[in-house]
Amino acid sequence: MDCDSNKESRPGPDGETGSEGNPMDFVRKIVAVDNASGKWGGRVVTRFPPEPNGCLHIGHAKSVCLNFGIAAENGGRCHLRFDDTNPNKEEIEYAESIKEDVRWLGWDWGEHLYYASDYFEKLCECAAQLIRKGKAYVCDLSVEEVRETRGTLTEPGHESPWRNRGVEENLDLFARMRAGEFEAGSRTLRARIDMASPNLNMRDPVLYRILKAEHHRTGGAWRIYPMYDYAHPISDSIEGVTHSICTLEFEDHRPLYDWCLEELGIHHSQQIEFARLNLTYTVMSKRKLLELVREGRVTGWDDPRMPTICGFRRRGYTPAAIRDFCARIGVAKNNSIVDFCMLEHCLREDLNKRAPRVMGVLRPLKVVITNYPGGQTEEMDAVNNPEDLSAGTRKAPFSREIYIEQDDFRETPPPKYHRLAPGREVRLRYAYFIKCEDIVKDAAGNVVELRCTYDPATRGGDSPPDGRKVKATIHWVSVAHAVDAEVRLYEHLFSKENPGDDPEGGGFMDNINPHSLEVLRGCKIEPSLANATPGTPYQFERLGYFCADSTDSRPGALVFNRTATLRDTWAKIEKSQGAK
Ligand code: ATP
Ligand code: MG
Repeated sequence: MDCDSNKESRPGPDGETGSEGNPMDFVRKIVAVDNASGKWGGRVVTRFPPEPNGCLHIGHAKSVCLNFGIAAENGGRCHLRFDDTNPNKEEIEYAESIKEDVRWLGWDWGEHLYYASDYFEKLCECAAQLIRKGKAYVCDLSVEEVRETRGTLTEPGHESPWRNRGVEENLDLFARMRAGEFEAGSRTLRARIDMASPNLNMRDPVLYRILKAEHHRTGGAWRIYPMYDYAHPISDSIEGVTHSICTLEFEDHRPLYDWCLEELGIHHSQQIEFARLNLTYTVMSKRKLLELVREGRVTGWDDPRMPTICGFRRRGYTPAAIRDFCARIGVAKNNSIVDFCMLEHCLREDLNKRAPRVMGVLRPLKVVITNYPGGQTEEMDAVNNPEDLSAGTRKAPFSREIYIEQDDFRETPPPKYHRLAPGREVRLRYAYFIKCEDIVKDAAGNVVELRCTYDPATRGGDSPPDGRKVKATIHWVSVAHAVDAEVRLYEHLFSKENPGDDPEGGGFMDNINPHSLEVLRGCKIEPSLANATPGTPYQFERLGYFCADSTDSRPGALVFNRTATLRDTWAKIEKSQGAK
């Protein structure tokens, strides 16, 4: 990936600041110190280890950017490793979607695509090694009994009656577990550590369980499956990972991570924990996201309201915006919740630079310009992007009949309303001044058409020689040239800031925002968008950023998603904080 487009802080020579002068986060500091001391011989190997049981969400993006970012900044490498140790939950489609998402975010694992299931044989050998050392034993307690005898935070656990089995018996039983001789759940292989440890994870944790399930890669070859806490350190070790970066909830598991590698005497990666990302107005656990999909509360994992990477992509978010967001939120040790509008702020900054401006009318009101010649079309010069003049201009066709936004007309304008009203004059962007002379109503009294006149001396939207001024500029689309489109407007999927943890006791499903999707049909868009490519961002002037929908839009039946409005709440928050 092009690291220069990534604003994350980089290690500097003093180990304190990045090469762009940004303060370094604590993980990058650890890596810089290790590089300086030569702890890993200058190598930096990280990994991103998703479980293929759901699509990636924006929280995963934080971990992806951290792991791949640190590797890229240090001339190291980052592995993509599927943690597919749980045969019941994984699906091949998820693995494919995860690869697509990591690539889309701009990262490349090169040759280093791995699966924990590739290590099943090696993991078994390690287990036998632990048994031989007297560090693991086959336990005949059921899963419930293991849990019941584990003790509590204040009371020690009880040793299993099977804890002192001899090595030969353990090896034999373990081999027979593997051969499928025993019922699922009837026995486990447990580490022999300390049932009185203040850390519950160290109280003879289960390393292997019997599961008679088909695995998406190994099929029915295995009847025993390793636990995550056992498979993870060994997988890291096999791959020569130097810095094994994970989220905070694994802090209490670190002693077990270290124990496994110490007892086996193999390459010992360093586990480092950081705080997971939480965002307002959303939920981030894959279990909850899956429930939304299964219950049909969204159209799928890639529903544009979902906090998933595929959802954001379909909505029109850019990889650069998400990477910028991940860089700005930083990496810390304490859990916090990030304001969703900060993500939108990063998005707007990026789209403002790259999205061509176009005109589209969402709720059309027809305007007939009575003094404009019928049958005449003028090609008005429209600037594609005022932020990037190299983007050039395009021709916007203008004719006697146009559509404007219903909202840009008021029969009885309230105070401070400067747009069109009877007798009022406004500027049509890139075209002419027009003045409302008359209104046409239907039988129910709704305004269905405006009759206006234009001033030929204002071509291009310039002020006329008499110096007359107008207080508003509005957008428009020529009736004869407009293309029809459906437009989907989105709000947050949840109506509460913290829907997953509702103090009023409701579950996250009770906090779904009933107004998260509004579908507008019969919208009128300028003809340059007739062949809009899905995902290409546009700014509809005055309305926000939009893109054609990758699933439902096609030429002749256009569907646009609103990616974001133009209102930047985060910029306002920052400004007010600055003022204080
Ligand atoms: P979930 O809680 O959503 O089910 P998970 O942790 O089970 O997520 P994994 O597939 O195991 O999902 O995660 C892969 C990597 O992404 C892990 O290293 C995990 O720590 C990290 N990760 C998951 N969620 C977040 C988050 N919200 N913020 C930062 N990193 C995350
Ligand atoms: Mg997990």
